[in-house]
Amino acid sequence: MSPFKKNETSNPATACRPWFPFISFVRTRHWKKKFAKILLSQKLPEQLLQRRPHHSQLLAAIPNIQYGFGHAREFVPAPLAGHWDTVPDKLQVHGIRVVEVTTPRQDCGDADAFFTRLPGIPVTVITADCVPVLLARRDGKAIAAAHAGWRGMVGGVIETLWQELAAQGEQPQDWVAAIGAHIGPCCFEVSEELADEFVTRYPDVDASALRPRHRHINLNILARRALQQIGISEIDHETPCTMCSKTPEGKYVFRSYRRGDRNSFQHSGLVILS
Ligand SMILES: [Zn+2]
Repeated sequence: MSPFKKNETSNPATACRPWFPFISFVRTRHWKKKFAKILLSQKLPEQLLQRRPHHSQLLAAIPNIQYGFGHAREFVPAPLAGHWDTVPDKLQVHGIRVVEVTTPRQDCGDADAFFTRLPGIPVTVITADCVPVLLARRDGKAIAAAHAGWRGMVGGVIETLWQELAAQGEQPQDWVAAIGAHIGPCCFEVSEELADEFVTRYPDVDASALRPRHRHINLNILARRALQQIGISEIDHETPCTMCSKTPEGKYVFRSYRRGDRNSFQHSGLVILS
């Protein structure tokens, strides 16, 4: 049986544009392309942007943790900037290696998923289109983070992270997850061959949701699929697109690798026990 609820994937193109519910109306009416393009450009309310362009109610409800997702104006969310000196030393390589972080500034080597049970030690991932996934135990006793680009997703980085946690006795019903901003199906265009490979690789996923447009792939669905197959059912997954989200003034909200941002021009997803 498909791990996806039908209503979750019925309109994936709008999943990354929660501020514009009438986009589907525009699309279904086949308005002139140019006009639709103006409307489709994500415009975040300035008030929201100044506070926090992406927020997880699930993580916010957990005691003893702080979390946040960076954006173009703040590589690290301001309230968490003081913790940046203690983040693990690591190189994200779009792989599936998982590290348990037990000391500040731990040398983690090449790794893309992290977890800890210790307060004061943040786990973090850095992204600029890839999917950042933050996880936390409901009682605030453990946290985790995964860097899930399409290669990591296909490799099973989320599943491998969970294998490590499950080996330590963790139960999926005790955990929640938040998917941070990443490139949406509106902008994640791949080769026709790769798009076909995705559809072939995930026969349990509605192909029209996985590939909502010609050669466009919905990574959000794949992240949710991985989490749901693990058994984590509470997932904050509505996120803006890192490539095309703009402020009302026309400035990009996020860094985007596809748009040309590299190296330090990315942002962080960070969670820490306190
Ligand atoms: Zn987009």
